[in-house]
Order: sequence, then structure tokens, then C-alpha cells
Amino acid sequence: MITIDEFQELAARAGLTDCGLVEARKINFSHDVRKMCEQNTCRMYGKTWACPPAVGTIEECRDRCLQYDRFLLFSCKYDLEDSFDFEGMTAAMADFKVKARAFEASVKPCLKRYLMLANEGCGECGTCAYPDPCRFPDRVHGSIEAYGLFVSELATAAGMKYNNGPNTVTYFGGLFY
Ligand code: SF4
Repeated sequence: MITIDEFQELAARAGLTDCGLVEARKINFSHDVRKMCEQNTCRMYGKTWACPPAVGTIEECRDRCLQYDRFLLFSCKYDLEDSFDFEGMTAAMADFKVKARAFEASVKPCLKRYLMLANEGCGECGTCAYPDPCRFPDRVHGSIEAYGLFVSELATAAGMKYNNGPNTVTYFGGLFY
């Protein structure tokens, strides 16, 4: 079984800032987080297989996740020019998705099976095929928010920083394994 030290080394090699473990059975799958998705501030609701309603209900997401015993939260911190640097945030989000893929590629040989989630979902294709069939079902990264995961709570449980201070943004992904 891969250790937290090994995960941390692979995360660092993928350019991520931090990672930490949480027992899957202790995770709260929150309807309130899902409600935030439904407000559609990220404009991804109903646009991708990685987001609601396509990912299924919170109960279905929870059942999918609880096929695994462990959860690794991982993050990457980005510096911004200021708190209104939306261009910086967009670029950081795109970079985070690349890093999450690089991390996945490095952990894949060490895990029999897993479920990978990332901030605001998949990002594998320029435009998601939804509602047509997913082009790469084995490469989907579900949205961590869509699964009802309360990232700030999980960061505390994993001993990680949720907020890295003014003029930064920190994005999170998760790995059930
Ligand atoms: S792999 Fe492509 S088609 Fe499938 S969910 Fe991701 S972005 Fe959409």
C-alpha cells in the first residue's frame, strides 16, 4: 500500500503543494455543498458528465466513493496579483487540472483502482461531450464540489491549509482509493 510519504513525493513531483489523508468513512457528503453547485456560479451545472445532474445524487456519489477505504486530499497554491485577478485564477485552474492529471499518472501504477475528483470537474476535453456519451469514461475527474465534499472541513481533517493567505488561490482535488 502506498504511504503518505510516497504520496507526498509524487504530489511534489507533479507540482502540487500539499496532500493529506482522511478515512473515507468519516467524510461528510453534504447536500449543502451540492446546493452551491445548483446555484451554478461556476456555470458548469448541466454542462458536463463530471457535474450535477450527470454525476447522480449525493447518495449515489457517496456510494461510489465508499467503495474505497481511504481518501487523499491534494492541493496546489497559486499566487495572484490581487483578489480580483480573475485571469490569474482561470490560468491557475487550468494549470491545476494539468497537475491533477500528472499526479494521477504517477499514482495509477501503485493503485489497483481509484476514483479521482478535482476542483470544478473534469477538464479532459476542451468542451465536454455532455449530453452525448463521454469520450473517455476512464479519464473522468468528477467535480469535488458535485460529490458534496466540504473541502475546508476535509483540509482541516487532513492537516492541510485551506486558505494560503491574501492574494493566493488554492485548488483541491481528491483521490478515493
Ligand atoms: S472526458 Fe471529456 S467528455 Fe468525458 S466528462 Fe471529461 S470532459 Fe466530458
